[in-house]
Amino acid sequence: MISTTPRFDRSLVKKYDRPGPRYTSYPTALQFTDEADPADLLADCRGTPGPLSAYVHLPFCESLCWFCACTTVITLDQGKADAYLDCLEREIDLMDPYLPADRSLAQLHLGGGSPSFLSAPQIARLGQILGGRFASAPDPEFSAELDPRTLNEEKVDVLRSIGFTRASFGVQDVNPEVQLAIHRVQPDAMNRKVLGWVRSAGFESINIDLVYGLPKQNPETFSKTLDAAVDYDPDRIALFSYAHVPWVAPAQKIVERSVLPAAETKLDLLEMAVERLTGAGYVFIGMDHFAKADDPLAVAAANGTLHRNFQGYSTLGGLNLTAFGMSSISQSARAYRQNHKDLRDYSAAVDNGRLPIARGYRLSPRDELRRAVIMELMCRFRLDLDKAAAEHGVDPREEFADARERLAPMEEDGLVEWHGNTLAVNPAGRFIIRNIAMAFDSYARPAENRHARTI
Ligand code: SF4
Repeated sequence: MISTTPRFDRSLVKKYDRPGPRYTSYPTALQFTDEADPADLLADCRGTPGPLSAYVHLPFCESLCWFCACTTVITLDQGKADAYLDCLEREIDLMDPYLPADRSLAQLHLGGGSPSFLSAPQIARLGQILGGRFASAPDPEFSAELDPRTLNEEKVDVLRSIGFTRASFGVQDVNPEVQLAIHRVQPDAMNRKVLGWVRSAGFESINIDLVYGLPKQNPETFSKTLDAAVDYDPDRIALFSYAHVPWVAPAQKIVERSVLPAAETKLDLLEMAVERLTGAGYVFIGMDHFAKADDPLAVAAANGTLHRNFQGYSTLGGLNLTAFGMSSISQSARAYRQNHKDLRDYSAAVDNGRLPIARGYRLSPRDELRRAVIMELMCRFRLDLDKAAAEHGVDPREEFADARERLAPMEEDGLVEWHGNTLAVNPAGRFIIRNIAMAFDSYARPAENRHARTI
């Protein structure tokens, strides 16, 4: 049994706070190239056995939250979603020849944007598009990111009738001044109302997202947000650090009109959140995820069966991740492929009968080894280099000499320890797991300034 109890060592968290990837893939999307041949990227899709994990990107939002770095389309025109559903339907049909024989869905995730931008009939139509092409695997996990500001009971009922049992809500912060500063007014009463709807409709699992490091936040305001979050009683809580990357998300320039919390204050907020959430019975899963001790994610973390993919931590692994919609990223055994990020480019491709692949990456055998190693570390906080090297036919001493060198300061600081060729992440190292993983990343150094900071 692996202990999932982290130890928050403020000075060490501060010392290692530097830009780093979130490792929802390895190599990260920064390595994707538009020179990759789509045929090459699709080559192993059919051969990667089912069932499938499907992701559908629904990019529309009624207004832009100024902290947002997602790929969105801001509109009040509901008709745009009708046209988009037409494109999705075509894209799924274009993908059909590349899908494995087993078309059952073990996982389906609707992300965005705001999937709840769609009207109830549009959600029903999406259900028909998917249901007509894919069967459900036994006990599937269907989840949707929902925005309380655009959700209503009718939409909840339609989602439930399609088979959705998991809902994820962006809460971010309940303080009205913080909400004004990020252009996202979402009163506490609204949160409570939508939670009531999904619970009465029979949703089994609720996640809420919180963000620390937003403008106007301070320990006093954030303490109230944490109180509310615990009182909402979700099964999972994602606690994200606000990533200020205005060169990627220009709307974040507006956020700069308000004063952002200083680095020390941000650490205060994180430290308080860790204490409050673990004190309320949530288990630290890894990176920025917490779950109730009996939640499948916490159980998987405890018994060493956790996985990681583009949606973050997951209980299901080894699945062919097939993503649809603009900007979405798919993963087969040896390749990643990403669709066009621009709605016009995406629509034009499918209208012309082409899969809308804009760029991607074909993994080398060395990438596959490093991916296995990094995912092992991110999910289990432990790494057996002999085992990993044997599976990939390399000499671990030679292959990982660079990683050992990069980890030396962390070993001195007591964040990790070596037992022969096995690396164990100590409780204090769990909060900087991505910095530890970076030691095994062949691409980390040249890319690191293009990532957000880890804290
Ligand atoms: S945070 Fe969510 S709701 Fe707000 S703009 Fe971004 S995707 Fe849309």
